[in-house]
Amino acid sequence: MRWNQDKERENQEKIRDFQAKMTRGYAFKRAYAARRAWEFYNHPEVAGRCYAAVGGLDSITLFLFLRSIGIDVPAVSVSMLEDQSIQRIHRALGVKGLKPASSPQGRPYSKIEVIRGFGFPVLSKEAARKICDLQNPTEKNATTRHAIMTGETGEYGGFRTGTHMKLSQKWLEKFGGPENEREGTDYQTAPFPVSDKCCYFLKEKPLSSYTAENGVFPYMGLMASEEGRRKKTLAIHGCNYITKSTRRSAPFAIFTRQDLLTLALEMEEWYHGHWREFRPIAGEEDGAEVYGEPIHLETIVPAIYGKIVRDPPDMTPEELEAYRRDHGGAEPEGPLRTTKAQRTGCQMCGFGIHLERRPHRFDRIRYKNPREWDMWMNHICQDEDGAWYGWGRVLDYIGVGWRDDLFSREDPKPLCAQCAAVLRRDFVMERPAGIEAVQEKRGTCWSCGRKRSLALWYAAEEVTEA
Ligand code: SF4
Ligand SMILES: [Zn+2]
Repeated sequence: MRWNQDKERENQEKIRDFQAKMTRGYAFKRAYAARRAWEFYNHPEVAGRCYAAVGGLDSITLFLFLRSIGIDVPAVSVSMLEDQSIQRIHRALGVKGLKPASSPQGRPYSKIEVIRGFGFPVLSKEAARKICDLQNPTEKNATTRHAIMTGETGEYGGFRTGTHMKLSQKWLEKFGGPENEREGTDYQTAPFPVSDKCCYFLKEKPLSSYTAENGVFPYMGLMASEEGRRKKTLAIHGCNYITKSTRRSAPFAIFTRQDLLTLALEMEEWYHGHWREFRPIAGEEDGAEVYGEPIHLETIVPAIYGKIVRDPPDMTPEELEAYRRDHGGAEPEGPLRTTKAQRTGCQMCGFGIHLERRPHRFDRIRYKNPREWDMWMNHICQDEDGAWYGWGRVLDYIGVGWRDDLFSREDPKPLCAQCAAVLRRDFVMERPAGIEAVQEKRGTCWSCGRKRSLALWYAAEEVTEA
């Protein structure tokens, strides 16, 4: 389809409308989500043939929310990719586990196989796809490659320039090398392959196959506030997206993290009154699931997230007083957060790693399982000359630290006061003795990378939650 101006205008309109809904209060959004979920269920093209695609806390909350409003659909997930604590919740809620797509050998793909065969999932899905195109030139993707290098879209893209098709300059410098000859540039070429295929084989294909084989359509826990670049697509398509080829519902599309956590707390309460309605899948007989006895979970929040807690409101004593006065003596509420992971994803995934504070997700695996960490960092792929390498090479290349250790007493880390406070939630933090450690200096914080006043710290042990 050619790019056209009317479409662009219509999309702008949709985005404005969507953004206006995002600013509404929690009660509105909750009611809106329920209405949209039912509209999807009752849509003639869907007619109740739905399921909930489940992963972490967001979609676990969605699944329970659907049940709580009377939408009784099965839940499915590629559970094996998730953290153990998430798998435990899935099992108790009767979530059906799907396997990753099959490799040419007929076995489900493992993450290592996909990385070896196709490349490392790093930066973001969009960036990885673009880099993959640059690294795998064909006749067919020539126009795309030119757009990735320059932002010029050519005839079929309406001859636009400076579009989002262009890979950011920072990463072009690092990954644009394969096109140097064609584009007359002088960029570097990465010594490892990059691709977004991991998500495709491990997550998307199993769900799309499940959709196709069973003629059912997913409810998904997507939220525009968390979607980065895909935010715009979600805003344009809206909560319910129904076309000839795609049918999906994202009732939480306009939710913020706060809305989601508020609903999660409500669903926690709802669950404890209804836990007997959920049975784990115990096996299969003649192609149908056999269910076991219900398991009463202590909480629906997987342990990897910690607990959902409310921080005190960020207000001065005067503001606090004014609030109470204006609200008939009621106390203001601070923001909700989870005490451990804020969001989860697959382990050992490079998407977003360059934006994370240290200790980042790879560091954290090192503390939990040093041998597994070493394997992922150093022993995934082999060079042509037989040398082993892994994520370590990728992180070095994009400038993300990983060799140094927060637990090293000999090499304490310069941290800003804010990062030290955040780390104290997860680690017993200590300061080395000696004058140098006590003096604060300005420099780059090891954790957040900002220029700050710093003090030296190391972690003595991990805080274990009671
Ligand atoms: S999120 Fe990362 S690790 Fe998980 S399937 Fe996608 S690319 Fe692979
Ligand atoms: Zn910091």
